[in-house]
Amino acid sequence: MELPNPLSHAYLITGGGGDSRAALANRLTAAYLCEGERPPCGACRACRKVSAGTHPDVSRIAPAPGKREIAVDQVRALRADAYVRPNEGKRKVYILDPADAMNPSAQNALLKVLEEGPAYAAFLLLADQPGRLLDTVRSRCEPLTLPPETPAPDPELQAQAAALAEVLLTGDELSAARALVELELQKPKSDQLSALLAEVEAQTSRRLTAHPQRGAKVLRALKACRDSAVFNPGAGLTLGLLVTSIF
Ligand SMILES: [Zn+2]
Repeated sequence: MELPNPLSHAYLITGGGGDSRAALANRLTAAYLCEGERPPCGACRACRKVSAGTHPDVSRIAPAPGKREIAVDQVRALRADAYVRPNEGKRKVYILDPADAMNPSAQNALLKVLEEGPAYAAFLLLADQPGRLLDTVRSRCEPLTLPPETPAPDPELQAQAAALAEVLLTGDELSAARALVELELQKPKSDQLSALLAEVEAQTSRRLTAHPQRGAKVLRALKACRDSAVFNPGAGLTLGLLVTSIF
């Protein structure tokens, strides 16, 4: 995600996953404190300290060990700290992660400093469930919403899908039938098979230019397989029908 420019003093970071929200917060923090020409440059002293987690003007607020909530005392301490000028940077950055762990009194305590804190103070609120935040808190932050995370592709599944796409696109009827029988014998679970066929479909689409006619047939057959009772592992799956509709 491209960072906003100019930076606002408060962001509510939602969407994505915990790691991607934290990564975005770190980039923003570096951008606030960077001493280079194109913040965050990643190379200056401030950027390096942010990525090492040692910058004295960055505070992270999370529930205390063993607690589920960010308590009002923690936010009061933040507020007091915010009125002390930065140690070495031009800003002070407060990362509340997860901000939706603040209980209502903690949120109310944050409101005032969000609204009229010193100009150098910046606040990054990370939330998985922003609905838990008071409207008044949300409305004082610029929203930054990350796209949903897609799970990392499973290399084994991809290799299996590639082999299957290959035989369906370029092989003969017999080798295709053999590959599918082999697949049936592995007795894949319904969701595994769906994931595999979806990947075969994706790989076939990418190779349509090279195999326009067979490719279109394979895609149609896979779609029919997905849409109909043909693909019903519980009731004995009949991947073989894929072959008859392709060749
Ligand atoms: Zn920098």
